[in-house]
Amino acid sequence: MTASPVSLRLSAEGGEDPAELEAWRTHVRAWVAENVPADWRARMTGAGDEEYVAFQRWWMGRLREGGYLAPHVPKRWGGGGCTLAQQVILAEELAHAGAPQLTVTSTALYHAASTLLAAGTDEQQARHLPAILAGEIWTQGFSEPGAGSDLASLQTRARREGDRYVVNGQKIWSSYATYATHCLLLARTDPDAPKRRGITCFILDMTLPGVQIVPIRQSTGEHEFCEIFLTDVELGADRILGAENDGWRVAQGTLSTERSVFVLEQIERLCVTRGRLTADVAAQLPALNGTPAEGRLRQSLARLYAETEVLRLICYRMLDDLGRHGGAGPESSVIKVMFAETLKRVDELGTTVGGLDAQRLRPHTQGVNWESGDWMVDLLATPAWTVGGGSSEIMRNVIAERVLGLPREPGAA
Ligand SMILES: Cc1cc2nc3c(=O)[nH]c(=O)nc-3n(C[C@H](O)[C@H](O)[C@H](O)COP(=O)(O)OP(=O)(O)OC[C@H]3O[C@@H](n4cnc5c(N)ncnc54)[C@H](O)[C@@H]3O)c2cc1C
Repeated sequence: MTASPVSLRLSAEGGEDPAELEAWRTHVRAWVAENVPADWRARMTGAGDEEYVAFQRWWMGRLREGGYLAPHVPKRWGGGGCTLAQQVILAEELAHAGAPQLTVTSTALYHAASTLLAAGTDEQQARHLPAILAGEIWTQGFSEPGAGSDLASLQTRARREGDRYVVNGQKIWSSYATYATHCLLLARTDPDAPKRRGITCFILDMTLPGVQIVPIRQSTGEHEFCEIFLTDVELGADRILGAENDGWRVAQGTLSTERSVFVLEQIERLCVTRGRLTADVAAQLPALNGTPAEGRLRQSLARLYAETEVLRLICYRMLDDLGRHGGAGPESSVIKVMFAETLKRVDELGTTVGGLDAQRLRPHTQGVNWESGDWMVDLLATPAWTVGGGSSEIMRNVIAERVLGLPREPGAA
């Protein structure tokens, strides 16, 4: 891959020299070729939790040495300090090389780091950013059993007592909480204020008395998610991120980090998977020569090809907006819905083409997200994408109201 249209446009807008940007791509590509272990998927297949976390830490260390860890974080905190155009190129090259994704530390590196940069005090930044870049694991304590899509309904309570807060409540779906030492916690500090106004964002130390973590076992055998029970957990006022009762605004900033270059990397990875699917389909065609099944296979593949290319183009537009105005437009909701559905169709076709053998659930490959290379394992991981970070139904509501200009959903907050 040479200059992608979006990296060129972003570099021109940012006053970067396109030749220097191409030199950056050459550097990244050479580094990736030398540092991504060819056998990492095989090594992670059947790996235990400790082995998996150790591998993630090792890969993170490698990226840090190369200067490619957390490219959006300023260099003074140990990040890559990259421009948006450089981040795009890095994402493309990592995806095309099939490099491991940082799963266990992703909440720390993206959600927590971005929130600390946007809303943290100097003391909070100095205390946590270097630690995060060194491998500290964070989880996100936003969702509750009765507050997922309608996050503003959250009931976890932080009651002020002098200069401390006493927290009681329950969180759910907190990714990687088993390994986390810190949590970005949303709790209600003013129960009398309108729903969105009485919430505060806290930094919660997961080792405090009263914090109980209960893993949730998934169909793949992993326990990526956890419930967190909080009983009389005491937090100092210095643990507030942003201002008291301003947590809703802080959380919106946290959630917007899910709609940036990370999305492009996922789409590029999907295009790599599409290549694997194409090879699988091509291998089937001789046996199906001239049958209706051959036509159906060709059509399904062609449709997926068109969909993934459209996804890429919409993502370019979103990044362009990000470069120009610093915020993602409504394209991010379109991308979210399309990505989740296209990913599912790619894995479904892969499983169908693979026949009976592809239906067999093999030992799970830890930490590969949805790209283990095993169609069935990957298919099982796809529903998560139609829910996490805003479900497809909610995204469709956003598209209906903000893109198509339809009236607001009756009864919506
Ligand atoms: C992979 C993954 C990782 C996650 N990680 C975290 C994490 O680290 N921390 C965290 O706090 N949370 C996390 N979550 C939780 C996630 O944010 C919630 O699952 C999500 O917000 C949906 O909430 P819910 O599961 O409570 O579903 P609900 O809100 O109960 O919705 C149930 C169903 O009803 C539909 N629905 C709800 N309201 C409407 C409406 N108004 N119109 C139409 N349909 C509607 C939804 O689309 C959904 O299909 C994660 C989820 C996933 C899948």
